[in-house]
Amino acid sequence: MDLQKSYRNINYQNLVEKYTKCTNAELFADINPGDLDHVLAKVPYYSIECADAALERAVQAFDKWSKTSPVKRGQILLKAGEIIEAEVEDFALLLTLEEGKTLNDSRAEVYRAAGLFKFYGALAFKLGGKTLPSADEDTRIYTVKEPLGAVLAITPWNFPISIPAWKIAPALAAGNTVVLKPAEKTPLIALKLLDALRRAGLPEGALEVVPGRGNVVGEHLVRSESIMAVSFTGSTEVGRHIYKTLGEKKTMNRIQLELGGKNAIYVDKTADIGKAIEIVTRSAFGLTGQSCTATSRLIVHADIYDQFMKAFIDRVKSWTVGPGWTPVDMGPVVDKEQYDKDLYYIELGKKEGAKLVYGGNPLNIGKGYYLEPTIFEGVTKDMRIFQEEIFGPVLAVTKAADLDEAIELTNAVEYGHTAGIITRDLRAAREFSARVVAGVIKINKPTIGLELQAPFGGFKASGATTWKEMGEEALEFYTKEKTIYEGLI
Ligand code: NAD
Repeated sequence: MDLQKSYRNINYQNLVEKYTKCTNAELFADINPGDLDHVLAKVPYYSIECADAALERAVQAFDKWSKTSPVKRGQILLKAGEIIEAEVEDFALLLTLEEGKTLNDSRAEVYRAAGLFKFYGALAFKLGGKTLPSADEDTRIYTVKEPLGAVLAITPWNFPISIPAWKIAPALAAGNTVVLKPAEKTPLIALKLLDALRRAGLPEGALEVVPGRGNVVGEHLVRSESIMAVSFTGSTEVGRHIYKTLGEKKTMNRIQLELGGKNAIYVDKTADIGKAIEIVTRSAFGLTGQSCTATSRLIVHADIYDQFMKAFIDRVKSWTVGPGWTPVDMGPVVDKEQYDKDLYYIELGKKEGAKLVYGGNPLNIGKGYYLEPTIFEGVTKDMRIFQEEIFGPVLAVTKAADLDEAIELTNAVEYGHTAGIITRDLRAAREFSARVVAGVIKINKPTIGLELQAPFGGFKASGATTWKEMGEEALEFYTKEKTIYEGLI
């Protein structure tokens, strides 16, 4: 298929008809951010009544799903992983058309989602507790892992299949049922994920997708006493609000919060400059800077500053921008709200006295939200473009005299999501890893890119640090451990 010519004929209304259950709901047009004349589907924003009905189906489904053997649950998840992997191109195309990232980035995200279902599918086979000795020879002590009930997953738009997958897969493996409230901007890929799970044999009600407004149905579901746990990924502002709201409920819910970031990479004086440039360019402008792990602050050692910056800016000049379904490095910004936010911060950076050394302008590529990759130099830590999450292709650069100052600058924000160092000096790398307060440290690697088998979660204002996501650790959040003393009489 020649996508350039035919993409406008692609429509996902059938997915909406099949998997949404809310008549008379407000409809919203889900639009391709790379071509604003292309409507992908009209999707209902669920009413509170429809959200309640979906939650009730998840609550009803819990008894049967939790009693289904973990092995059988695992088989369904493994099958879902196989389906997603076999249909990677279909999933990736929808992801690109709905969120805007390039097809290559979409494929990588879809493979990750498939991998997550396989990983937790396999882990379901060995879901168990431990046996312990007792002081009494006739007593056996053992623990079992029980699911929590119907749990709520609230997700952002920037990784709209892998983040739902890293919540849904461990939750279902452990025997919970899930209500997923996807981001307003990306409900279709969530419905396609539901479709794959249903085809893999997931019973109705085990996963309910509730598209709708966060401050209406999201808020309502968080407040519901039938929800037993809330796993939220999104902005720090909304995360803080949910944290507070849960404290007011009668049911003491578990909460997992993965929030915003303002991640820095430090390029040390010993770095291989060519490799550092590739790592920084990809980390800052890959995925249009719309990743929670994106590099939005760059700190460069004074000794190599001029040499590095000249070569880096030359590299960014060759970074291509365009529709995600064409062979480019960077797709459009996700929607008007984010596009206006990026432009606001670019103007703010200029007003604050930072030096705009590259980009800063909208790009006139068809009818979409295209922006130049943007670099500011001379950014100081009191500036808002240093401190605040922009979530776009805007990079703030600061010079550091030495490792101590680089660490001090890296830590000088409220966030603690991800941080990176590029160096040939192992001692510097160790020092940086030990003293930087962030949930993930990358040494000589892009800040973006996570592996599913490794636990993940931010520090400071980037996460609640209570429970990790991904890795075997994710199962902890979705299970409670019961201790059984089994005596003989
Ligand atoms: P957001 O906080 O605006 O929305 C996230 C989700 O919360 C959406 O589904 C939204 O509808 C819902 N929501 C909004 N208000 C709500 C309320 N009152 N009650 C319940 N739900 C509500 O975030 P976003 O714009 O979708 O995503 C971008 C943000 O997500 C950035 O801050 C980014 O750093 C963060 N993010 C973090 C991670 C991580 O793992 N730490 C990963 C990806 C994105």
